[in-house]
Order: sequence, then structure tokens, then C-alpha cells
Amino acid sequence: MNALRRYGLLGDPVSHSLSPRLYGAAFRCLQVAAVYDAHRVPGRDAEALRQMMLELGASGGGNVTLPHKQLAASHLDVRSSAVDRTGACNCFWFDSAGRLAGDNTDVGGFLNAAADLDELQLEGASVLLLGAGGAARAVALACALAGVRRLALYNRTVGRAEVLVSDLGIEEIATVCSDREVSSEPWDLVVNATSLGLGRTDALPLVLERDRFRFAFDLVYGPGGTNWTRHAAAMDIPAIDGLSLLVSQALLSLEIWLGSVPDIDGVTRAMWRAVSPAPDRGSR
Ligand code: NDP
Repeated sequence: MNALRRYGLLGDPVSHSLSPRLYGAAFRCLQVAAVYDAHRVPGRDAEALRQMMLELGASGGGNVTLPHKQLAASHLDVRSSAVDRTGACNCFWFDSAGRLAGDNTDVGGFLNAAADLDELQLEGASVLLLGAGGAARAVALACALAGVRRLALYNRTVGRAEVLVSDLGIEEIATVCSDREVSSEPWDLVVNATSLGLGRTDALPLVLERDRFRFAFDLVYGPGGTNWTRHAAAMDIPAIDGLSLLVSQALLSLEIWLGSVPDIDGVTRAMWRAVSPAPDRGSR
């Protein structure tokens, strides 16, 4: 009999996370004997994070969320190029040599999720990225890999956006932009990678106008979308929320942990059903 594998999410807070439901549905669909639990690891407790990564790594693997993605990267023995470039790790496991290995599946996850926006072509596109935290780093790298023509970063703390551009070495395509540029230029895609929208009373990350934005992608998710994706819909701008990224990065994590995922469409549908009642989503 196969031993039960243990996977988990490490972060703070984690009580709101949909990941246990998401991965539970995937493991049932794949008939893999595994459990996935959320573990609260208090901020700045570097040793507790390392211990949990080693424990879970030995029994399956895990994910890392806010605020530990950068700290997790520093605990790895083996880093993917996405971890090296973003400085953040959201997925870890033990490799065949017993070393703690990690990747940043938000990068590939963002590219796959953006494909849910029909007719959006990232190659050659102009992208306005709101935010400069860990998630914005993954989105910025994904945009660079996809060959966007222009990437503009707009963040409350300007210096953090400047450091992001320099850390990722994407000066050729990326600039840090001002209020005036944000409100005057047209963009193919605008991405919210700030945490605005997590709180019920949060302001919109940006007020959108139909003729200046072709598509919108909110990394935040909520029941029936977010206030910002509803605002985009009211402006007739096609928009998706962060559930697409959640499912896409989970699929990539499963492929890493299990070696391969035999029924990608079936597992994707099972994960969507677990986190969203919407009937028209589920395969790609
Ligand atoms: P970080 O804490 O690293 O970054 C937060 C960002 O939000 C910073 O740019 C910060 O600006 C900005 N911000 C916070 N509060 C405000 C405010 N009041 N006004 C304007 N800007 C603000 O978080 P992450 O990058 O890890 O995550 C960002 C969001 O993306 C979160 O909502 C997270 O849930 C979501 N996410 C979703 C995923 C998914 O699978 N759907 C995956 C990963 C992230 P400043 O630099 O000035 O502080």
C-alpha cells in the first residue's frame, strides 16, 4: 500500500485559503493518497518556516504564500531560474538527491491564466502592472518572458518598483510610471498585483475607462469576482480574477510533485468546481 503523502500551505494568514479545497479535489480526481493542509507560520519565524519546509518536503511538498515567499527562497538548496530571478519561492519539494528544491509557479501560472482572456496576445503588448511586491515580481518576469513590448510599473512606494525593475534586469522593456502616465496612456492589459481588494472596504486599485484598457487581470479573488473585475465588466472591459492564477499555479505545482498529471482537463475541472460555482469554467 502506498504511504499517505502530506502536502501543505505555509503562510500567515492562511485560514481564508482555498488551497486545501483545491488540492483535495485534485488528489481525489487523480486518486492519489494525499492530504493538503494549511499551516499558519507566524511572520519572521525563519526557523519555523525552514522546519515546516523540511517536514513537508520529506513527505510530499508544499506551497508558500504571503509573507514568506522571499524567506522560503533563502532556505532552498536548489532554486529554479524563476526563483533566482524573482527572489521568491511558492512551491517546494525534495528532489531525487534529497535536497530541498523550489520553484515559483506564479510565473508560468500567470502566463497560463492570461490565456483565459480570449484574444489577449501578450507578445508585443503594453502592460500596466499595479504593485511591486512578490506577486508583481512573478507577473513582471512572466511578461518579460512572454515578450511584452512595454511594461509599466505603478506602485504606492515608488522605490520598491525601481528595485523590482533593477533586480529582474528588465530595464529594456520596463519603466516605473507616474500618476500622469497611468491616467493618459492606452494599455492592452492592466494587472492588479496590489493587495487592494482583499479587504471589503478597499478602494479600487485603479479606475478604468473602456477606451484606454483592453483587458484587466485582478490577482485578488473573491466570490463571483472582485469589486475591480465587476467595475471592469461595467466598463465593458474583459476581466478575470485571481482564481485563474490560483488554479494554474496549482496545476504546475502538481506536475512538479507528481512527475506528471495524467488528466489535465479533468483535474482542472475538478479544481474549478472546488473553488467556484461558475459552470462555464473548467478546461483550457
Ligand atoms: P506583497 O505584500 O508582497 O505586496 C503588496 C503590494 O500591494 C505592494 O505593491 C503594496 O504597495 C501594495 N499595497 C498594499 N496596500 C496598498 C494600499 N492601501 N494602496 C496601494 N497599494 C497597496 O503581496 P504579494 O505581492 O505577495 O500579493 C499581492 C496580491 O496578489 C495579494 O492580494 C495576494 O493575495 C495576490 N496573489 C494572488 C495569487 C493567486 O493565486 N491568485 C498568487 C499571489 C498573490 P507598497 O509597496 O507601497 O507597500
